[in-house]
Amino acid sequence: MPRLEIDINKIKHNTKTLKELFAEKGISVTAVIKGVTGSPEVANAILECGITTIAVSLVQNIKKMKEFGVKAEFLLTRLPTHTEVAEVVEYADISLNSEISTIKLLSEHSLKQGKRHKVVLMLELGDLREGILPEDIDSVIEQIIPLKGVVLYGIGVNLACFGGVKPTEKKMTEFSQIADRIQEKYNIKLHMISGGNSANYEWFLSTKNIGKINNLRIGEAILLGRETLHRNRIPKLYTDAFTLICEVIESKIKPSLPYGEICQNAFGDTPEFADIGNINRIIIGIGEQDVDTKGIKPRINAKVIGASSDHLILHSKNHLEVGSEIEFDINYSTLLWLSTSPYVKKVFI
Ligand SMILES: *Cc1c(COP(=O)(O)O)cnc(C)c1O
Repeated sequence: MPRLEIDINKIKHNTKTLKELFAEKGISVTAVIKGVTGSPEVANAILECGITTIAVSLVQNIKKMKEFGVKAEFLLTRLPTHTEVAEVVEYADISLNSEISTIKLLSEHSLKQGKRHKVVLMLELGDLREGILPEDIDSVIEQIIPLKGVVLYGIGVNLACFGGVKPTEKKMTEFSQIADRIQEKYNIKLHMISGGNSANYEWFLSTKNIGKINNLRIGEAILLGRETLHRNRIPKLYTDAFTLICEVIESKIKPSLPYGEICQNAFGDTPEFADIGNINRIIIGIGEQDVDTKGIKPRINAKVIGASSDHLILHSKNHLEVGSEIEFDINYSTLLWLSTSPYVKKVFI
């Protein structure tokens, strides 16, 4: 079985370093661990570093952590569906929201459960994923305030996630001014003014004024040590807390160019290859089923040529024995796929 090795100490190092860095300008970190499907072991390691809020995108993963005994404040990053509001209120302390109909249901179910659920209202500032448009903010807030089962705990914005829109100084100032305006106009305190994700690292370093922003929701930077605008390594962080390890199942010298009549492959593509003569072709027992083949990089001198669902083919500089193991660095989407797969063993070191 392929295995995913998880170095808990490296994750802790990344968490501590980022927590201290952001704290220098008064920003708290919500640790987003949807990339590891809410692994309780990872959650506990992060909590040991003094972070108090853990976020995931699936309510099932909050339930899993709670059953494992993880003690934290839990935030749900994905907007709740109407059909899951009861569970969201039961398991999550905070949820990100952009639809008043959903917020009303959260309030109803919260009251039934004798709770007051915390709502963070997401604002649209151009990335065009979730968020209410600036012109709708007031009407939505005026509908939230009277609800007895929820409290407007804060506002949030999420950039560079779908549209790749950069969290610039201008966008962050705009967001901060909206926070100011809401607090003044409605005479309320917004506890969480959450300015973004790992893509906010550059803004954070360069800005002289963070304004009202007091929180960031950080996933990839903690887990993989990178900011996400250019995928540059953040100084002092580990980028190799996760290692995928797979066994060689075939190792032969074969041509680089398929021979015979070329039609469609397993995925309906007609592939094209360069003819570079005979090469060391290595097959490992993993495939599109479990990894994003564009998102894994061997730590040896070898290159991923491609994969079918369950075989991945490498061009290796050197000969490798069948039965030997190859280590890979992985990207965020591959981390998510591997974490989700029951066919990949998770090993904590
Ligand atoms: C995934 C997610 C994050 C974390 O993003 P990273 O790039 O991993 O830091 C933050 N907020 C929301 C709403 C998300 O969906």
